[in-house]
Amino acid sequence: MKIPFAGFEITFQDDPELESIGLSLFCCGCKKNCLFCQNPELQNPKNCPLVDLNYILEEIKNRLNLIDSIIFLGGDFAYYPRQLYYLAKKCKELNLKNILYTGFTFNYIKKFKYINYLDLIIDGKFLINYHIPGFFPASINQKIWKKINNEFVEVNPLNLPINQNISDDLIKKYFQLKGELKC
Ligand code: SF4
Repeated sequence: MKIPFAGFEITFQDDPELESIGLSLFCCGCKKNCLFCQNPELQNPKNCPLVDLNYILEEIKNRLNLIDSIIFLGGDFAYYPRQLYYLAKKCKELNLKNILYTGFTFNYIKKFKYINYLDLIIDGKFLINYHIPGFFPASINQKIWKKINNEFVEVNPLNLPINQNISDDLIKKYFQLKGELKC
């Protein structure tokens, strides 16, 4: 089985719990077309070669002594549920923490089997009007879901380690935008 694939990168900040060194995997393909998407070159699946999942898995295994987590980025792996299922299951067997960033909502993706092998999900489109520089997630309409006792629960972003040192001004801005979202 194959997926349009752009490559790997070892990262720390892509785990908002800041508890793992991660290997970020970048697939190609996303139709959400968010204004100011961070990786617009990865929206078109034709921009990337089709790569066999077993090759990706071997590359993950080659880095096991360096990493604790896998971050599924893109593009959006949720457009490839069978491939995501395969990789997330195999990575879980390797005892890795699995983190998915997706432009779909949790409500939409929760019906897919791959959810059983994920630990953390950051969902929703990137909306520039709800972007606060320096705050996680990138736009505050996005939600963070953490698996606790086999159930996904929504996490308050203000409780995330990645947001521990944000200023009072940013917190004020966060609540202001949150208020607008409810309108
Ligand atoms: S969902 Fe993510 S990858 Fe897709 S267009 Fe939006 S920001 Fe880009």
